[in-house]
Amino acid sequence: MNLIIESLNLKLKYPFRISRQTRTIQNNLLVILEDEEGNYGLGEASPQRYYGESIRSARTALRGMSKYLLSLPLPINGCGKEGGHIEDITNELQRRFPADASARAAVDIALHDLVAKKLNIPLYEFLHLNPDRFRVTSFTIGLDGVSIMCKKVEDARDFPILKIKLGVKNDIKILEAIRHKTDATLRVDANAGWTVSEAIRKINTMKDFGIEFVEQPIPPGSIDGLKKVRDNVDLPIMVDEDVKTSKDIASLVGAVDGINIKLMKCGGIREALKMINVARRHKLKVMLGCMIESSVSITAAAHLTPLVDYADLDGNILITNDPFTGVIVEHGKLHLPERAGLGVVKKSPVD
Ligand code: MG
Repeated sequence: MNLIIESLNLKLKYPFRISRQTRTIQNNLLVILEDEEGNYGLGEASPQRYYGESIRSARTALRGMSKYLLSLPLPINGCGKEGGHIEDITNELQRRFPADASARAAVDIALHDLVAKKLNIPLYEFLHLNPDRFRVTSFTIGLDGVSIMCKKVEDARDFPILKIKLGVKNDIKILEAIRHKTDATLRVDANAGWTVSEAIRKINTMKDFGIEFVEQPIPPGSIDGLKKVRDNVDLPIMVDEDVKTSKDIASLVGAVDGINIKLMKCGGIREALKMINVARRHKLKVMLGCMIESSVSITAAAHLTPLVDYADLDGNILITNDPFTGVIVEHGKLHLPERAGLGVVKKSPVD
């Protein structure tokens, strides 16, 4: 097997601001995994400094993974033992490259794409998921001045669910102005921007604006803090920065209502499925989220949405130069291609 690594420099439509950073470009890596018979699978890594990765570290990790994949004795065939093979490979990658979650996600996604393509079935079918249950995604409104955020809300009128980035001084003013502009379902993501007391005060004020849930109110690492927030507010509390893999879930039980799973944090589809199972066992709500990503890895995550409560898969809609087309969004609803594998193809020049 051969792993080709390419740069994927994604340009954002608007500078994307959350409570801790602003960006105009997201540098990701595309991987193409080829086998001896000319089949190929696509994958993508979106390395995040916040989680200890960089383009350089991800590239180095992928080169190491490439060597390991080359050493595998047999072609990855399409049936029976296949799932087992993917599981074996991703477990070994986890053991060898524990700190490189997004790079592992790229290979994990490419393996799933390759195997489902060889079977000539869409990935959701390979995973035995019901295509009638693909979710409606939220659309993210990044932080900005109140009037610009309201303008972004107007531009997003096609989306029935909006995720509002907060975690700044004038949060309530922003939300009040946005609620005035739209009847859409609103979700709030503070991106760890509040203290415990600030979170309690703000969440209790914003519940009058019809908010569905609040994501990551306080900095990660304080389960007591999360519990205190949750015990003193009426809105459900989801965590994102506090949960990376299935190992992080059990300790959060009782302190939160649900978790936000991202392929780039957990290392790919295999671990995401494990996280969904663990979360369900603990009766937690599950959201599937994303970074700024192209249609390659956004489509991979979209295939899993029949298993979750909420989807926040808009990373590919926030960019202007997505080289690929895969999942299509209509009025927020995710529509997966019926093509084999991820169903992702290069955009034709007329698209
Ligand atoms: Mg978040």
